[in-house]
Amino acid sequence: MSEPILQVTDLHVAYGRVEAVRQVSFSIETGSLVTLVGANGAGKSSVINAVSGIVRPRSGTVLFEGRDITRTPSHRLVGQGLVQVPEGRQILGTLTIEENLQLGGWHAGGGRIGEIYERFPVLHERRDLPAGSLSGGEQQMLAIGRALVARPKLILLDEPSMGLAPKVVDEVFRVIEEIRAGGTTVLLVEQNARRALRAADHGYVLSSGEIVHEGSSADLLADDRIVQAYLGME
Ligand code: ATP
Repeated sequence: MSEPILQVTDLHVAYGRVEAVRQVSFSIETGSLVTLVGANGAGKSSVINAVSGIVRPRSGTVLFEGRDITRTPSHRLVGQGLVQVPEGRQILGTLTIEENLQLGGWHAGGGRIGEIYERFPVLHERRDLPAGSLSGGEQQMLAIGRALVARPKLILLDEPSMGLAPKVVDEVFRVIEEIRAGGTTVLLVEQNARRALRAADHGYVLSSGEIVHEGSSADLLADDRIVQAYLGME
């Protein structure tokens, strides 16, 4: 078994008196696709925002490739190979598509935009247009492309399928599986739990800020109690 690329131990995140995450521990094997699923408000974003340095955890440790990165600011992590695609995409709509991609390479010493255009031809075709002119699905591809410019070892995706039509969701999941097949480790946060578990090797179920189940995706999907309690109806 390979070394974990990420190891999170006893993570605690609070906003004032609101305890969003309590004693969360998990690890991610290098090269795997791991998903963190749970209902709205379960604490999924708080966990990955704490990992990526967007939010400061109250306590706990985060090791990336064995190095302690707890409280390392997100822009420094980009250069180390850990990049997040934030919830809601957060592309800059008035800048062109190419300018958005260039920003992705800012903290990584340039990056390779050409490779992103090969993967997403639509971004190449429209590279000089404002990013805000893209459809929701295309904007999600741009957000993912912008993260890939930095050539991450670990990519964190926060709800990439949110608000997208079913066909576009299929495309987003296809891209996520391709990223993993290309050797990048993926941590996927999703409310669309079934879909995420079908794509992932391993899953963690978060409820009210705590991990309540973990296991191989196949085992989680095969457990009727888990399916009924956390994964909802098909
Ligand atoms: P969602 O799918 O809505 O993003 P989530 O599982 O990602 O949900 P979080 O966004 O991490 O959950 O939120 C966990 C808890 O922390 C919720 O109760 C939420 O209201 C609270 N919370 C999140 N961000 C803040 C904040 N900036 N200030 C105060 N409370 C917050």
